[in-house]
Amino acid sequence: MSILRVALDVPLDTLFDYLDAGHQAEVGMRVLVPFGRRQMVGVVLEIVEQSQLDNDALKPVLEVYGGEPTLSSEILRLLNFCADYYHYPLGQIVMSVLPGRLREARLALLEKILGYRLSELARQASLEVLPKRALIQRRLWLALEKQGSLTAENLGETSDNWHTAIKAMQAAGWVECVELKHVIPSAPSAIARPALNEDQAAAVEAVTRQLTGFKAWLLHGITGSGKTEVYMRLLESALAAPEAQVLVLVPEINLTPQLQARFKARFPHEPMVALHSQMSDGERLRNWRQAESGLARIVIGTRLSVFTPIPNLKLVVVDEEHDGSYKQQDGMRYSARDVAVVRAKQAGIPIVLGSATPSLETWHNSQAGRYALLTLGQRAVAQSQLPDIITLDARTPQLKDGLTPALINALHDRLAKGEQSLLFINRRGYSPVLLCSACAWVAPCERCSSRLVVHLRQRRLKCHHCGHEERIHVQCPNCGNPDLHPTGHGTQRLEATLAELFPEARVLRVDRDSTRRKGALEDMMAEVHGRRVDILVGTQMLAKGHDFPNLTLVGIIDTDSALFSPDFRAAERLFAQLMQVAGRAGRAEKPGEVLIQTAFPDHVLFEALKRHDYAAFATTLLQERKTAMFPPYCFQALLRAEAQKFEPVRDFIAEAANIAYGLDGAVMVYDPVRPTMARLNGMERAQLLVQAEHRQALQAFLKQWMGMLRSLPLAAKVRWSLDVDPLEI
Ligand code: ADP
Ligand code: ZN
Ligand code: ZN
Repeated sequence: MSILRVALDVPLDTLFDYLDAGHQAEVGMRVLVPFGRRQMVGVVLEIVEQSQLDNDALKPVLEVYGGEPTLSSEILRLLNFCADYYHYPLGQIVMSVLPGRLREARLALLEKILGYRLSELARQASLEVLPKRALIQRRLWLALEKQGSLTAENLGETSDNWHTAIKAMQAAGWVECVELKHVIPSAPSAIARPALNEDQAAAVEAVTRQLTGFKAWLLHGITGSGKTEVYMRLLESALAAPEAQVLVLVPEINLTPQLQARFKARFPHEPMVALHSQMSDGERLRNWRQAESGLARIVIGTRLSVFTPIPNLKLVVVDEEHDGSYKQQDGMRYSARDVAVVRAKQAGIPIVLGSATPSLETWHNSQAGRYALLTLGQRAVAQSQLPDIITLDARTPQLKDGLTPALINALHDRLAKGEQSLLFINRRGYSPVLLCSACAWVAPCERCSSRLVVHLRQRRLKCHHCGHEERIHVQCPNCGNPDLHPTGHGTQRLEATLAELFPEARVLRVDRDSTRRKGALEDMMAEVHGRRVDILVGTQMLAKGHDFPNLTLVGIIDTDSALFSPDFRAAERLFAQLMQVAGRAGRAEKPGEVLIQTAFPDHVLFEALKRHDYAAFATTLLQERKTAMFPPYCFQALLRAEAQKFEPVRDFIAEAANIAYGLDGAVMVYDPVRPTMARLNGMERAQLLVQAEHRQALQAFLKQWMGMLRSLPLAAKVRWSLDVDPLEI
């Protein structure tokens, strides 16, 4: 008797057994099963003859969704790895990586992907059989001759009026419509490509020489050094193999359209799909299916797309590998970058991690020889120089609304020359606190241990952590004083200050508030490119990816809190961020200048930054990490718990600590603590950090520990989670 072992989206670390009851389900297929009083969709992971349970107690599956794509054994293997490594229930992982439609209890009937190709008749004939005047038909004929087969989408790019033309050709018997399974590899395209510089050529050659077998590469290239060009050459090499597919991961949805446009220009005939969370369920399923069926040759996507089934995957690229967005912060807290490396290893293919400021983990791996290092040391466009980086002492009494005279002068100078400036401030809103000048009360969030940010325009106080909002108080609730001051600076205040200082300047604010509308960011970027903006004010949103040829000044305001943060990763993040922002200046022929306002102008971080010396700074940071025994010199996991009342949280974490102390000497268990945000969104929080010198030791410990924690009665009273390799502690 066949027993199906099914993965379900329930928080239990087990599979559930059902009788196949003559459905002949296969591994990887979706099924509908009874679960308690409900029915649930799951995926068959194993088929066995004998259940641990009594067969009589098993219920039959209700439905098997045959005829659909199944989860391949490659993906199931990767998901199994994740379940083990992140100590997260396999069933929940399996169900969470599926497109939404495949989590619904109905057969996901998919439209077939149809394409056109020349008929046998046409292949015997020549283009000249077409009427001389039928230009579009002739163009389509040539395209089909060259490409073998094309989808409607491909044809749409060839010509606007393709539809009538193809119908006519179909009627005449020259073209036939077929269901596409695999794409016929396209002829090498005659697209113009820049000649590679020496560093680029060396990088491309090194990777191309080893396109078979697993190997991890770190492509370390300063901003503007032409990393994307290197990726494109590597895609080209990898895609030369018939049926090959490639996966390119990007940290943020905002970066997909740009990269997609560049790839599209370079590979106009390669079927490409994007995958990210902001697409409709239908679109996501269609794209997923195209990747899964082997039809799409280039798959580009954010974090979650690392789990896309791609049967002929030959190369993985992770752009901006250092970016924190690769880390999932709820559910299974995985690092898409790390999972990508595991995937490449399992598939036996190369992976290229690219960054101007690699994460220290990756840098350490390259120093230790586990990843091969490729360096792009110069900017790709010869005339484009790296910007000068200058620190401005912010401890001057001459500050005008937070701006130093030197920065104001520099802004004047750019305005006079008709060049653009970017002011970077890492805080949206008007000002970060509302302060009572009489009793020093500051407006707190009632749901979090944080302060409310003043949003003056809407006359609201907002919590940037939980979203709580309230009206701005007219008087201090503590002492009745009506004199409440917005204190400190945010994007809105800076925007107001600039309007006062430079009434003639066109100022544009780019932050999460001003870009909420879909498409708003693209519209704003078009304004900047059209030179209809003089001064850009923005948060870190602006740090990445955008190229502004006419931007010659970057001013950075208020970075100092990160210099002395208790978070040991703060300096690494700040350096990366400043390098990225600095990279926005002087990308074209015009040299750029970066001015950083700080109370610590001689800090080592700025010294390294001025020299554009990532490697030196990384070495310093690694030394510190080694001395302090922090990652990458150890491996950590963080147990978090929260509940509305503190007591059960405290007790659960204390109990977890007690169990941990008793388990294994190779693992160091810290004291339970409350995080900086001790209260968040109305929940009381506590956490416990454990670490070990070796990954295996930590993993062995976690396996035992998790098993014991799950069976604690207290575990049911709090919301808790484990974060392996946490980025924020
Ligand atoms: P990165 O991704 O490293 O920031 P890009 O790939 O965006 O850099 O390249 C920066 C600019 O240099 C782009 O405009 C790109 O078209 C151009 N570029 C890249 N490689 C070359 C090259 N070999 N010759 C000329 N221009 C190049
Ligand atoms: Zn007061
Ligand atoms: Zn809050």
